[in-house]
Amino acid sequence: MSAPLHDRVTIVTGAAGGIGEGVAQALLDDGARVALWDLSKERTEQVARRLDPSGERVLALEADVTDQDAVDAAVAATTAHFGRLDGLVNNAGVIAMAPSWEEDAAHWRRHLEVNVTGTFVCSKAVGDVFRSSGGGAIVNVASNCGKAGYRNMAAYNASKSAVIGLTRSLAMEWADVGINVNAVCPGGVDTPMLSQVADWLSPRIDVPAEELLAGMGAEQLGGRRIMPIEIGRVIAFLLSNAAVIIRGQSISVDAGATPY
Ligand code: NAD
Repeated sequence: MSAPLHDRVTIVTGAAGGIGEGVAQALLDDGARVALWDLSKERTEQVARRLDPSGERVLALEADVTDQDAVDAAVAATTAHFGRLDGLVNNAGVIAMAPSWEEDAAHWRRHLEVNVTGTFVCSKAVGDVFRSSGGGAIVNVASNCGKAGYRNMAAYNASKSAVIGLTRSLAMEWADVGINVNAVCPGGVDTPMLSQVADWLSPRIDVPAEELLAGMGAEQLGGRRIMPIEIGRVIAFLLSNAAVIIRGQSISVDAGATPY
């Protein structure tokens, strides 16, 4: 039996980050070829070399997901390089912790621009290709923050709720042209973003960041943190044919922290 994603080509945005690399690894493990997109070409190339030193099954590209022209160019470069396109993982994201009393319009716009508009811009650019090729699959990386609001991240929470809404909308509309759209909602995953949250919180509650991070594990996993590859394996499944009956769902991948 061949690997579930054998030869399929999938784009992973934010691929130089923690979850992005884990997702790319899981997709490669399942036989896919992967276009790694991120803001910095150098960082993305480093990840590509780590994942596939031969370079045969990876392509590193610089692409800001908020820049329509850059996204269109990266889609064209990906299809030209691999000769086909089957999947997209909208993983690029930002968080800047702040009490809502201190958030201003620029802070809000940045979260919505990257996390929501970026997700739509990439989905639309790739969706246009899928529409003419007969279909494909998209997985958005939302967050359990989009289901359960947490303190000091109102703009982030709202942006991830919007991704959940967008996932549902596109899944219903794009099923007609063979495109399946789902999302995952991770809890705390061991990545630079989680460290950023701990670093912000640490001086405010006078607890060392390492101690905070140690406490950010999943209760139902005996307190250990969720690893990027574990998120990646769920995403790989959602991109496979086996997931064709799962549509428009935003699946919590937080070891039970969110009960829905
Ligand atoms: P990370 O900071 O390690 O990686 C995020 C990546 O996105 C970075 O490499 C960054 O350069 C890239 N990026 C940011 N803005 C971009 C843009 N405009 N265009 C292209 N790339 C851009 O964070 P992570 O933890 O790996 O987060 C990945 C995704 O998972 C994000 O959407 C995040 O919101 C989500 N998430 C993370 C956690 C967690 O605990 N780490 C939990 C839930 C959801």
